[in-house]
Amino acid sequence: MAEPVAIISQNLLKIQQRLAEAAAASGRDPAQVRLVAVTKYLPPALVPALIEAGARDLGESRPQQLWSKVAALEDRQPADVRWHLVGHLQRNKIRRTLPLVDLIHSVDSPRLLAAIDHEAAATGRIVPVLLEVNISGDQEKHGFAPKELPGLLPRLAESTHVAIGGLMTMAHRQGGPDVARRDFAALRRLSEQLGAEAPANVRLSELSMGMSGDFEEAVREGATLVRIGRALFEGLLPPADA
Ligand SMILES: *Cc1c(COP(=O)(O)O)cnc(C)c1O
Repeated sequence: MAEPVAIISQNLLKIQQRLAEAAAASGRDPAQVRLVAVTKYLPPALVPALIEAGARDLGESRPQQLWSKVAALEDRQPADVRWHLVGHLQRNKIRRTLPLVDLIHSVDSPRLLAAIDHEAAATGRIVPVLLEVNISGDQEKHGFAPKELPGLLPRLAESTHVAIGGLMTMAHRQGGPDVARRDFAALRRLSEQLGAEAPANVRLSELSMGMSGDFEEAVREGATLVRIGRALFEGLLPPADA
């Protein structure tokens, strides 16, 4: 078997090429899109290989997995590596998670936002967050309903120790590329609509959308953060669905 670093580097290169082509096709600068390497399928022992392959923005969907992966890196984590929490955060896991992350993509309720604000205030930090939107309306998904956000945003913006920097979503699960693109376009329009009326301290500049199966559609619709797992580890790990 080839070395993990070589496999991941190859995959990363291919993804970056596809990302650049999708950006060019829509008149965007690929530098406007940050790739977050989602480690949820990667055992902690292989995270150093991902970093060696060049990934600097690392994402995890489960808080406990994030804790153990950061812990496994010990002092081998380069100073420029940033961790992103992309999945649901339970309130009792906030305290341990906040010191480890640069951005929380998945704030999905006023209660969670208030609890993050409370903990951030206690530590004197302002925590950058995105609001997760359930754009497809899937029952099993977390996130704010698109319709409720315009009414909620002024109150959410009263939090003093979180910086709301944008929106995050996942496309409809089995819809294929056209449905994904429609979902991503809907998130972009929602962001524009909210941005036009947003309180002064809210700047909705980030759109976190697009995963292995649909990141090109997301880039065409304005994604500034894509969250990629499986495609990075092809040839390294057994297929995730098996
Ligand atoms: C797993 C996960 C991803 C990455 O999905 P892939 O299909 O592996 O690219 C992105 N975002 C979230 C929230 C995830 O849980």
